[in-house]
Amino acid sequence: MRSLARNHCNAGIPWHAVAFAKAAACPVEEASLPAREQQAGSLQDVSGSPRRIRPVADSTRELPLVAAQLRRVIRGDVRFFLFLMLSTQAFAGGLQPYARLILADSPGAARDGVRVTYLGTNGYQFEFKGHALLVDPYFSRVDLLSVALGSRIQPNASRVDDGLRHIAPKADTILVTHGHFDHLLDVPAVMAKTRARLIASASSVDLAKRAGASSGDAVKPGDVRRIGPWKIRVLSATHDRLFGKVPFDRPHSQDRPHSQAGLSAEASAKPEPPQRAADWICGEPLAFLIEVNGERIYIDSGGTATRLPPNARVDLAILGMALPDSRARLAAALAHLQPRYVLPSHQDDFFRPLSAGFQFGPLTDFPFVQRECAQQNRSRLILLDYFKPWTLPKAAGSKSQSPNPRKD
Ligand SMILES: [Zn+2]
Repeated sequence: MRSLARNHCNAGIPWHAVAFAKAAACPVEEASLPAREQQAGSLQDVSGSPRRIRPVADSTRELPLVAAQLRRVIRGDVRFFLFLMLSTQAFAGGLQPYARLILADSPGAARDGVRVTYLGTNGYQFEFKGHALLVDPYFSRVDLLSVALGSRIQPNASRVDDGLRHIAPKADTILVTHGHFDHLLDVPAVMAKTRARLIASASSVDLAKRAGASSGDAVKPGDVRRIGPWKIRVLSATHDRLFGKVPFDRPHSQDRPHSQAGLSAEASAKPEPPQRAADWICGEPLAFLIEVNGERIYIDSGGTATRLPPNARVDLAILGMALPDSRARLAAALAHLQPRYVLPSHQDDFFRPLSAGFQFGPLTDFPFVQRECAQQNRSRLILLDYFKPWTLPKAAGSKSQSPNPRKD
C-alpha cells in the first residue's frame, strides 16, 4: 500500500492526483517550518482548531513548503479522500462493459430461493420466505468533499426513504461489517423503519447507539446467532489499508500520545454522537457466514491477506474489492471459499448518489478481479446492479448442504 502513489504514476492518474498523493504519503522536508509558522496567517483545520499557515507561496521554490504545510493541516485520515476526489475523473466507468456478468431475476420469476438485492457500496438485502436480512445498508451517500473537509455528516432522510422503497418493510436483522460511515451511518434510521435488530462489533454498536439506535447485539468472532431462517456465524476480518494504515481506525483522542488505548477508552473518550466521518471509526472488522435454505453466503467488506476467509465452501462469496489489499488476497480467498458464485463488492463510487447509477470507484480495478477469477476457473464471477434482485440458484447436487470437512 505504501507504493500506491508510485504504482499509480504508471496507471494514468492525472498529474495533480499523483502530486497530491506524493505530498500526502511521502516524507517531505519540513526544516524551518516552525520559523515560517511564526509569520503565518491563520487557517481552520479539519479538527476545528485554528492552525497557523503561511499565505500561498509566490514562487515555485516554496511549493515543497506549501505541500508540507498542507500535510500538517490535513489529517492523515482524510488525505486519501482528497486523493480519491482528485483522481475520480480518470476512472469513472459504469457496468455497461460487463453487461454479460450482470444477473437479475426476470419479471415474474419464482421467489422460492434466497433473493439477493444490491443496495450499493457494501449493502445487501437477503430475502427468504418472507424474511429479510440486511448487511451494511447505506443510502445517504455523503459527498466526498464533506468527508475530506471533516464537515458534519448525517443521514440524508430523503435518500434513506428512497432506498427503503426498494427493500422489505420489515427486516429480521442488520449485520454491519465495521463502523465506517459508509457502512453504519444510516443503520439507526434503517433500524427504526424496518424494526431490525443490529448485530455488529462492540464499537459499532456503541457508535450506532450514540447515533440513535435503540439497541444492538455486540458480537465477536466465533459467535453464532439464529434469527428466523438465518444462521449467522461471526468471523474475524481485517480492513484494507490506504497509505499504509486503516483509515479512521480509532477515535481522534487516541492520536494524542497520552491517550488510553482500547474499546473502553473509545467508549468513554467520545460519549457524544458521531458527527464527522472520522468519528465513524472502523473498530473490529467482521465477516459473516450466513446459512439459509441449505445454502451458504459469505460476506465481508474487503481485507488483507493476513486474515483469510475460513475453509468453508460456500454458494455465494461477496468479497469487498475497493482497494489493492483486498484484491491482493482475492486468489487465496477464493481458494478457501470455493464459491459457486463470486460477487465482488464495494466497487462502486460511494460518494455519488445511488440515483446516478453504478460507477466504479477510482481505486477499483475490475479487470484485475476478472483475471484473478478466470485463473481460479471455478467460481462464476457475477455483478449485480443497484436494486435489481437476483435469486441464488440451488446447487445441482447437495454440495451446499454438506459441511466442508476442512476447518481453520
Ligand atoms: Zn471501511
